[in-house]
Amino acid sequence: MPARIVVIGGGIGGLLTANLLAKRLDRTQATITLVDATGMHVFQPGWLYVALDKANARWLARDTRSLLRREVRLVIDQASHIDVAHRRVDLTRGDQLEFDYLVVATGAALAHDEIPGLRLATHDFYSSAGAERLREALRGFEGGNLVVSVPSMPFKCPPAPVEFTLLVDEYLRKRGVRDRTRIIYVSPLDRVFPIASVAGLVDDLYLRHGIEARMGFRLQRVEKNTLISDTGDQQPFDLAVSIPPNRGAPIAIASGLGNEQGWIPADPRTLAVRGAKDVYVVGDASDLPTSKNGSTAHFEAPRVAEQIVAAVEGRVPNPVRSRYRGLVICPFEVGGGKATVLAFDYDRPPRPLRPNRFWHAATWLFNRTYWLTVKNGRL
Ligand SMILES: Cc1cc2nc3c(=O)[nH]c(=O)nc-3n(C[C@H](O)[C@H](O)[C@H](O)COP(=O)(O)OP(=O)(O)OC[C@H]3O[C@@H](n4cnc5c(N)ncnc54)[C@H](O)[C@@H]3O)c2cc1C
Repeated sequence: MPARIVVIGGGIGGLLTANLLAKRLDRTQATITLVDATGMHVFQPGWLYVALDKANARWLARDTRSLLRREVRLVIDQASHIDVAHRRVDLTRGDQLEFDYLVVATGAALAHDEIPGLRLATHDFYSSAGAERLREALRGFEGGNLVVSVPSMPFKCPPAPVEFTLLVDEYLRKRGVRDRTRIIYVSPLDRVFPIASVAGLVDDLYLRHGIEARMGFRLQRVEKNTLISDTGDQQPFDLAVSIPPNRGAPIAIASGLGNEQGWIPADPRTLAVRGAKDVYVVGDASDLPTSKNGSTAHFEAPRVAEQIVAAVEGRVPNPVRSRYRGLVICPFEVGGGKATVLAFDYDRPPRPLRPNRFWHAATWLFNRTYWLTVKNGRL
């Protein structure tokens, strides 16, 4: 009987893993089912550009089916519970999927409501609707305090809020309102970027662009156009852009797989979920000590695929192809048609190059070839 493989989540992690498995296993060896709550795959990095009026949100979403290899069965439904002991996934509409191997790729959830006032009083670009609302607010912005606040770690794509401050600086200059605007970056951390080796670069850029940074500000609530910290400090704003707290998907907690924030504990090299045989986690959903990033999922997916393929074929996994070293390669836009790249792994921190036009062009090219990469399960 073919092995039953179930993948939950049709983001970059789930799609790539399912496509890679389908490429390497034929129908006599395995059935591959991908469950996704919406049936639409979204290229989330594009939301930054939507907010800044450089992209249309409609270009960023595609029908999941169109990105999946034919051999993968797609189920559009919300998985509500994972029963590891009985090797079964319950779906909201009442169906159940039995599995021999399970890959959880449910991403990160946004928890606006953990901070009173955040949802209504501030904007974000961490959802399609949020990015479109922010675009409209920026079009009508006539100056004052533009405050960008970040939550405590972890949140997906740590460079995104810094990129936003630098790109919005450029946007406001073009609109002629920058001289009437203070851009203030507010963070609970003690440096402007979570990774120490990158913080110096951001400090320099902020100095050059006149962007203020307020560190050690742990946002507790939002009242009357003011951010209020847990120690009572206040930061008034005319327009606030807040990255909402990020948490693991509710199913992880409901199934007893997630920690208190919902992240799923896993072996950082094999991505095997701790205490759950033949269950793996790919992408933002895990508690791995690395950046929550599309490229992380991109490099993890082949490792998990190799382990499952080897198990189905009854052989030992290839030790190189099955071990994740923590590799992340993340472009970092700084405005002015320039970018750098953050490349690192578990053992080597990033050493960003001076921002240049090459990396900006490379980012642009990557964003346009993304759909091909996902569809073919290529690397
Ligand atoms: C503004 C922004 C900019 C970014 N920029 C970059 C960048 O430049 N480079 C980069 O590498 N990364 C970037 N990222 C991060 C990147 O988008 C994420 O890290 C990546 O999408 C994570 O992939 P994933 O598959 O783990 O989760 P996701 O892509 O979030 O997908 C999760 C999927 O699981 C589904 N799901 C969740 N729960 C269930 C359930 N119970 N049942 C069924 N389906 C479920 C969801 O519907 C979703 O389709 C950015 C993110 C944002 C928001």
